[in-house]
Amino acid sequence: MKVLLMGTGGADGVPALYGDDRVSCYAREHGGKDIRTRSAALIDLEIKLDLGPDTLAQVQRQGIDAREWSAVFFTHSDEDHLCLSEIQYGMFPFVECEKLEYTIYGNSLVCELIRHRYPEWPIDLVELSAYRSVQHEEYLVTPIRATHKGDEECHNFIVERDGRRFLYATDTGFYQQEVFDFLAGKQIHAMVVECSDGFAKTPYNGHMDLAQCVELVHRLRNDGALASNAQVFTTHHAAGGNATYAELEDALRPHEIVAGYDGLSFEV
Ligand SMILES: [Zn+2]
Repeated sequence: MKVLLMGTGGADGVPALYGDDRVSCYAREHGGKDIRTRSAALIDLEIKLDLGPDTLAQVQRQGIDAREWSAVFFTHSDEDHLCLSEIQYGMFPFVECEKLEYTIYGNSLVCELIRHRYPEWPIDLVELSAYRSVQHEEYLVTPIRATHKGDEECHNFIVERDGRRFLYATDTGFYQQEVFDFLAGKQIHAMVVECSDGFAKTPYNGHMDLAQCVELVHRLRNDGALASNAQVFTTHHAAGGNATYAELEDALRPHEIVAGYDGLSFEV
């Protein structure tokens, strides 16, 4: 599988839309890897993970053809991941398709929000629940329970194809024990993990700072959840985490974790 990180920013992006913080100011001045759009990824140009408000800009800038998508998997309903209005452009009258050309997978709230917004529209919707795998073409996708919100079952995804396994772990705090138990011994070949809070941990436990992110990865390696040579990349960096790209890179390198950036791609 080939994974492309289309966006690696937190909910308000970097520079944050109205951000007056150090990292936002640095990003405005220096650009490059410090510019982060809202988090999203794409597997084999076909399987889209989340569809946020920066989707159009990401597609245009990264030379992606959204007509090739066969599925969009939503991690949860937060608006930096689910931009309801972007879905309409895949249907008549914007295009001549009789129905939305990709299947949408999401938790019950995601499905409910889409049905409510587009009650009569032809959309294939598949409801996900934690630990129940779904087969989409040659991909087996297993949602696991993220630690993110008390009132919504938010998901991280294990995506498997041809014996290769990839874990997409955005918008989660430190995993609950049941998740470690489920992942133990899975020998996942690559992982993308969130590091929203960088150097500035907040009281909210639905995201991780750098120390927690490193601790989680170490634990997954020790449990055999990650294969011994598994590649690990970060995503969902918030400006409020007070870490520039270079600072993240330096802090993560000793732990054999690569600081993610918009446009990064890798083979699983
Ligand atoms: Zn988010």
